[in-house]
Amino acid sequence: MKLGIVGLPNVGKSTLFNAITNAGAQSANYPFCTIEPNVGMVAVPDERLDVLAKMYDPDKYTPAVIEFVDIAGLVRGASKGEGLGNKFLSHIREVDAIVHVVRCFEDNEIIHVDGEIGPRRDIETINLELIFSDIDIVDRKIDRALKAAKGGDKTLAAQADVLGRLKAHLEEGKSARSFVCDAEERAALEDMPLLSDKPVIYAANMSEADFTGGIEQNRFYHEVEEIAAAEHAEVLPICARIEEEIADMSAEDKLLFLEEMGLHESGLDRLIKKSYALLGLISYLTAGKQEVRAWTITRGTKAPQAAGKIHSDFEKGFIRAEVVVYDDLIACGSMAAAKEKGLVRSEGKEYVMQDGDVVLFRFNV
Ligand code: GDP
Repeated sequence: MKLGIVGLPNVGKSTLFNAITNAGAQSANYPFCTIEPNVGMVAVPDERLDVLAKMYDPDKYTPAVIEFVDIAGLVRGASKGEGLGNKFLSHIREVDAIVHVVRCFEDNEIIHVDGEIGPRRDIETINLELIFSDIDIVDRKIDRALKAAKGGDKTLAAQADVLGRLKAHLEEGKSARSFVCDAEERAALEDMPLLSDKPVIYAANMSEADFTGGIEQNRFYHEVEEIAAAEHAEVLPICARIEEEIADMSAEDKLLFLEEMGLHESGLDRLIKKSYALLGLISYLTAGKQEVRAWTITRGTKAPQAAGKIHSDFEKGFIRAEVVVYDDLIACGSMAAAKEKGLVRSEGKEYVMQDGDVVLFRFNV
């Protein structure tokens, strides 16, 4: 999964991104490949994996990972090519979801590009750039559909109609995300990579004091909440500075530090969990002496496709999946005990994978 971090200058993007890269570097067990400077990888926190690691004492421990891309430099005018605008927009095209950092902290030392803090205006500025870029795409698509419809194709005429309504919606400054249409019409829009249609999490970046003492008192946060509610987006209060501070601490120190502040979980972990939920992602687990590992799949994925995440041969030669519910496995204490109790099921091609399934795939080579 790939998340793109966007936001106006001086809102805390780099601070958050530094926290992400430092946290990633801390999970030293993971073989991170060489990545670009604007890409950071972090492990998806999963306590189940830790418990399985105790049970199996594996040679390798491999959590699922999330890739964050720092898409700095998205400024007013980006859709018209300003400040390398198009380059940034193309980066957004490649991500699964957007983390939109919004400044909710006051600090006279740190200038705001528009002179004062204003989440509504800030969010609009960024969103409009995405919307402008989408209008260009929709326009081109309408032209093509109309040309093709002249040949008498009724489906294309219908498509031109829904595209026209979408265009009007975008021209009102609204994101494609909030465009209402029926499932069939949605399907017609499916192959268009619209930026303002991507799922978004608004990360409301606030001061340490507000974040630990009273999120509710931060009036900017309420503004972000309102906007998010109106467009069915998610909102997450965060303090990028705290994240930066704890990023390179050991797991124990981090926990102590957070507890002292009355927090239970890092903002980054909450961000990852929210992204999973937003994108409808779940994890299944594989466990053995060689490796204990979490695999990310979309909710609703069937066993052969889930096996294909490990290797395409697993999908092609799929025979069956031996599945045990994580809680059952832990309660039994070992795979052998779970088998004895009949808790390890044999599932076929139509089995829909569940979060926390511990799986062994059987396949033909
Ligand atoms: P970017 O331009 O969006 O990448 O913003 P930066 O991450 O560089 O942050 C701009 C400035 O704001 C830096 O000096 C940060 O230390 C500061 N900053 C970031 N988050 C906070 C915060 O929560 N409170 C305060 N007071 N300053 C912050």
